[in-house]
Formats: sequence, structure tokens, C-alpha cells
Amino acid sequence: MPNENLEEIVSDERLKEGLKAAINARERAKTFRSKVGVAFEMYDGRIIPGFNIETYGHKGNHAEEVGLIVAMSEGYNGTDFKRMIEIFQDAGHDDVEVFPACPLDCWGRLLEFTHPYLEIVVADVRGKVHYRTTLKEMTSGIKPPAQVYPSNKIRLAKPKSNITPKLPLDKSLRPAYDSDLWFRQYCDEILKVRLD
Ligand SMILES: [Zn+2]
Repeated sequence: MPNENLEEIVSDERLKEGLKAAINARERAKTFRSKVGVAFEMYDGRIIPGFNIETYGHKGNHAEEVGLIVAMSEGYNGTDFKRMIEIFQDAGHDDVEVFPACPLDCWGRLLEFTHPYLEIVVADVRGKVHYRTTLKEMTSGIKPPAQVYPSNKIRLAKPKSNITPKLPLDKSLRPAYDSDLWFRQYCDEILKVRLD
């Protein structure tokens, strides 16, 4: 049973719940090769799972994509997302090999539909956490002025419908809002986040 050692590995109850949800979601993956599970934790406490889907044709779905779509179908957007827990163990990999989401597609998608202060937790199928970081940290290795798509500039030039978060800005994001001008513009002008 992959879940039995969770207790001694993490003390944070919410994180433990998220890890279980991600491990369980991974068991629903529709695949013949890689099995990936994610759990998105929202600032109101909801945990939303995602799993990957492989097809025999051209285009499958990543677990991050599926979780994002399920969350968005419930009205969550942008700063509603607190963290993403990911369990990625590819076909033929060792039990403890982990993968930090997908740099090319999913980092961009997460930045587009969540926010840079999203916490990313990467764990293995036994629920052992290998590292915790933020989307901002993961995507900040690119030499300025290049950045992971999309910028605020393109978001302002091509405004998108229905991206206002369901919840007011969580108080834990307030320091970022107060100190990071880019994030403040994203909250105010693009997401139109409530501050109450
Ligand atoms: Zn992905």
C-alpha cells in the first residue's frame, strides 16, 4: 500500500490529504506508459485531482491539464490555487524517481491559469516529498528579459473571458501583492482579484 507511511513523512495535515489525493488520482490514469497524478489545493480547502490520459492517436492530456480543467469547471481561477502536488513516475523508472512537472507545456499553462506563488510539491508513489518550491522558482532560471510565456503584456493585449478568481486574494499572498509589481498588475488589471 503506497499510503501507509504518510504519517511519518509529513506532519502538515492538509499536505497529507493532498498527497493521498494525488496518489489516488494517479491510479485513475488512462495510460499504457506513464502514470501521473496531481492534486490541486485551493485556498478554500478544496482538493481537486487530475490524472493523465494517453491516447493511441496524437494528443493525450497531462495530469496538470486535467486537474486545471476540473478546477476551472468549478469556477476556480488564478489566485484561487494554493498548491499543486504531483506524483510523476514514468514507465520503467525507479520507484523514487520524480519529475518536476513538464517544463515546456505545463509550466506555461500553470503560469497562465494559476500564479507564480503557487506552491509545487513533488513526491513519489510512497508519498515521500522530494521537494517543495514555487512556480516562480521553477520558472525563474531563464535569462532576463526572456520569461516563460505568457507575459502581462500579452495578457493585457489579448484579454481573456472568465478568469476572475472565485475567492478574494488570500492573506498569505498579500506580501507578494505588496512587493511584486508584476504580480500586483496581474491581480489588479488581469485577474481583477477582490482584496477583501
Ligand atoms: Zn505536464
